[in-house]
Amino acid sequence: MSRDWGSLFDVDTDPEDLLEHFDTEWFRGQRYRHLSDERHGIERGTALVGDVVVRGYPSMPRALVLEPAIRETFDGPVAIEEKLNGYNVRVARIDGDLLAFTRSGFVCPYTTRKVEALLDAETFFDDHPEHMLCGELVGPENPYTDHDYSEIEEVGFYVFGIRHRESGTPMGVERRLDRCATYGLDSVGHYGTFTPTAAVDAARERIDDLNARGREGVVLKSTDGETALKYTTSAIHRADLEHAFELPFDYGRDFVFTRVMREAFQAVERGESPAAVDERARELGEAILQPAVETIRAVDAGEPVGETHTVRGDPKTISDLLSYFRDQGLELHVERDETDGEQRVVTFTKVAQSTRDKTRYYLGGGTIDE
Ligand code: ATP
Ligand code: MG
Repeated sequence: MSRDWGSLFDVDTDPEDLLEHFDTEWFRGQRYRHLSDERHGIERGTALVGDVVVRGYPSMPRALVLEPAIRETFDGPVAIEEKLNGYNVRVARIDGDLLAFTRSGFVCPYTTRKVEALLDAETFFDDHPEHMLCGELVGPENPYTDHDYSEIEEVGFYVFGIRHRESGTPMGVERRLDRCATYGLDSVGHYGTFTPTAAVDAARERIDDLNARGREGVVLKSTDGETALKYTTSAIHRADLEHAFELPFDYGRDFVFTRVMREAFQAVERGESPAAVDERARELGEAILQPAVETIRAVDAGEPVGETHTVRGDPKTISDLLSYFRDQGLELHVERDETDGEQRVVTFTKVAQSTRDKTRYYLGGGTIDE
């Protein structure tokens, strides 16, 4: 093999075996490969661009009951950060160009342009050419998620990790915060560093506050950045369910059990009264049933159903994004396509075919064996 991707292969892995699992894609006329599922201990989302390896962002465990999970996971100081609800992006500079990789390792044309515009990262990459910025792209106008943050008008990029691009080794939390401050990069909210015992109460307080503000949750990290643990608010469990049951035959089944159990363990850990559990139950039920009813009505009325997003940018970026989605097999329904000064603003729906087709089938008298 001519390429040197040495760091990817441990002694037991046959390089050809691993490479076979990578898919080939193109970006601006350049071929690259990416791994859509974890293989041989290599993270999902790992990409190969020419000779350069860009490691995937590792998936992190979730706590269902905070106190024992923190105790079991950490034996030293714990940093607590806000967990933002957007999409995971890794930014690397390769041959002089910034490239933005989504979770599964695609170079997204829209995200690449946005981070070019949002970040002033040249000096960071001049000083850290072999590192990548890992962050969450959030805000109401993006093509993947739709969580609103009052402080963000369009989109923002918040760094939660700086890692060595090829080995994936994280920078420690303090140093990362310092680098973000030095280079003027926005960082996710940092709530301080605690002993494991103190972290339990600190995390609970933060969760109460974030829940009241409809925000997602916290990530706890060891100070070397190696170990992470996530925990989420009731508000986001309901928001996830609402989203899933807007498209019940696409997402409903996968979402419901996990979110119901997160709610159940949370109610128990908080020692909630019967009245508080009743309230939780009512809100949970509403989050499931109401969007499903609305969707069935929408299909009945012949309206498109799916995830609707608005994006704005220069016309080329927006048309590249729409082609990129269509190339991935998505059916798009464009609701609005306007020009705002130099920018093209498009609202489109990623058509949820299962939900549309199954709902039509049942509305038309189709039956089910159950
Ligand atoms: P996976 O863990 O495989 O990514 P998932 O897509 O369900 O699964 P989440 O439940 O959203 O992931 O939790 C992990 C993700 O949270 C990270 O991949 C990252 O995109 C996001 N995230 C938001 N804020 C932070 C933060 N402060 N630290 C680390 N990750 C964060
Ligand atoms: Mg997320």
